Amino acid sequence: MITQKCIDEIKMAARIEDVVSDFVPLKRAGASYKGVCPFHDDHSPSMHITPKLGIYHCFVCGAHGDSIKFLMEYQKISYPEALRYLASKYNIAIEEEKKELTAEQEAAKNEREALLNVNAYAEKFFTNQLFESEEGRNIGLTYLRDKRGFKEETIRKFRLGYCPDTWDTFSKKAVADGYKPDDLLTLGLCRKSEKTGNLFDFYKGRVIFPILNAFGSAIGFGGRVMSQEAKGPKYYNSPENPIYHKSDVLYGFYFARRAIRERDNVYLVEGYTDVISMSEAGVENVVASSGTALTDGQIKLIKSQTNNITVLYDGDNAGIKASLRGINMLLAAGLNVKAVLLPDGEDPDSFAKGHRDSELKDYLEQNAVNIIQFEAKTLMHGAGNDPLKRAEVVNTIIETVAEVNDEVLRAFYVRECAELFQLSEESLQVNLKRALWKRMNTPSPARVTNIPQQPVQQGQPVQQQLPNVVKPEEVPQTQQPPTDPLFDLEYNIIRLILKYGFFETNVRDVDADGQEVIRRMRVDQYVFNEFHAEEISFTNPLYQHFYQEYARLAQQFDSQDDLCKAFAQHDDEALQALAIPILTEQTPDCSPAWEQRFDMETPRPDTDIECLNQEITGCVNLFKMRLIDKCKELLIKELESGDLTEQEQRDIMMRIGELNERAKELGNLQRIVISSQY
Ligand SMILES: [Zn+2]
Repeated sequence: MITQKCIDEIKMAARIEDVVSDFVPLKRAGASYKGVCPFHDDHSPSMHITPKLGIYHCFVCGAHGDSIKFLMEYQKISYPEALRYLASKYNIAIEEEKKELTAEQEAAKNEREALLNVNAYAEKFFTNQLFESEEGRNIGLTYLRDKRGFKEETIRKFRLGYCPDTWDTFSKKAVADGYKPDDLLTLGLCRKSEKTGNLFDFYKGRVIFPILNAFGSAIGFGGRVMSQEAKGPKYYNSPENPIYHKSDVLYGFYFARRAIRERDNVYLVEGYTDVISMSEAGVENVVASSGTALTDGQIKLIKSQTNNITVLYDGDNAGIKASLRGINMLLAAGLNVKAVLLPDGEDPDSFAKGHRDSELKDYLEQNAVNIIQFEAKTLMHGAGNDPLKRAEVVNTIIETVAEVNDEVLRAFYVRECAELFQLSEESLQVNLKRALWKRMNTPSPARVTNIPQQPVQQGQPVQQQLPNVVKPEEVPQTQQPPTDPLFDLEYNIIRLILKYGFFETNVRDVDADGQEVIRRMRVDQYVFNEFHAEEISFTNPLYQHFYQEYARLAQQFDSQDDLCKAFAQHDDEALQALAIPILTEQTPDCSPAWEQRFDMETPRPDTDIECLNQEITGCVNLFKMRLIDKCKELLIKELESGDLTEQEQRDIMMRIGELNERAKELGNLQRIVISSQY
């Protein structure tokens, strides 16, 4: 582990313009730099470098981050690798520390190491059996070589093995060699007989496929039966245990990593033998999801190496519809997805074997189509000219398009879909908007880690960029999804405190006697006071999270610039993604009052207290009024529900009366500070 002190030193030394210009030519533009963004296909300089904040930000694809993030994304390297690169660039000696572990962590680490040791022992036992024992050679090796057609070289590369067809050869040997029965059971290598309490071998009479982690250690095993008649399922797999989490593993990843990086693409197949056959046929950038639907953990693994994925589908149409859902997940994670449909009756394993190396590669390259073409082709199968069925297919495709984060790519897909089905682009745009709206209100773990892709632009409703976990409401049949006015107001409050929180402003207030008074305080202090006094919080969870983090960081920093920099380079990607568009706004997109008073390029709220005051108090008051409206709505609904006692009804009426009073007060305040924007 590199010490925090050393990381800080590296971050201090790494100048963003310096780091980026090693790879992308930059042109100076005032206090910042511009260059052609390497993260999307472009010719104009849409990437901006802001040295003051230490960040890059692309206004087209939304890529953003600090020097370290740039290197990680551009070079496809890990966080520590990026740190090491920068350390050598700036001649900083790397300091490593042995992390002090708590007793609990120490125990967990020891347990993990012990379990990895057991698996290493088991792996060796199985390969030895395969190559050295008579039974292994006659049955296991013969099967893999003759039946499956693997070369011995490949069998050795993938470290395949064999477990003897006896009850406890492995169990007995492992225990005799000092391995704990409990560990053998935890790892699923052995089972315990209920009758006798003796251990027996879980993989008895099966060929073994070790599942390796990114460092090449066996964390689990798959055991396959060899004859069709054998009892039990075709594959036995390791159970979840402290070192094996199925959802974080891709079979073959350890061997494929380099090839994935070099070809900047990964082929996704289903099973162990698909991976091995394709790799043997020279397509080494291949991994398997092992039959399960892809998980976030697996997608992360892929994204650490490439943004391009090609999914291979068996030649029979069955099951394709179900797996299209998996594709949507990949798109939502920001991957460029292509698909290949194999000829009828073929799977990747059989197809790779039946064709010469070059034929396989050619087929994959020539038949990889984008996701629109793929869905159109597979879903239209059998639909004929039935207009209802065609409409259903178009809707499914549009729902897929809605998962694409890149707006430009989305537009491209819509056009393609329109051409394919000979429909107008406009009509598809209406469907797309509805699908986007639906998607926005359906929280997806894959998406939350990946927000927002598009910069927030003037006048655009914020919630189109941000996922929210608010209950999905009825999607009305209008063309324009309704926007929650609360989110707009909340976003603007966040904007103002992030940009001007440290600035002082005069805040108009009404004292206990109803007299108007003026108080001078910092903008962020004003917001905190108001929220605290009224016991209110943001309704958008991401904004509330931001607000809490702001409160914490504001105590640590003495200047707005330092605080902004902390957010621009924040470890929490969601916060970073929220802050950067605000900090890199090209124009002060605030109320007309701002625009009249300030030079567009250089807003100087510090010299115009009145303007800042109008903006922030107007926004906070309106927010409060809208919250009151929402409260009233809920209370009225409760009243109308009809199952209240008389006393309860009276209480609610009273509460509504109070809220009306409060709204009136705020309305009066608002008239004083009214800001024409709202
Ligand atoms: Zn870009």
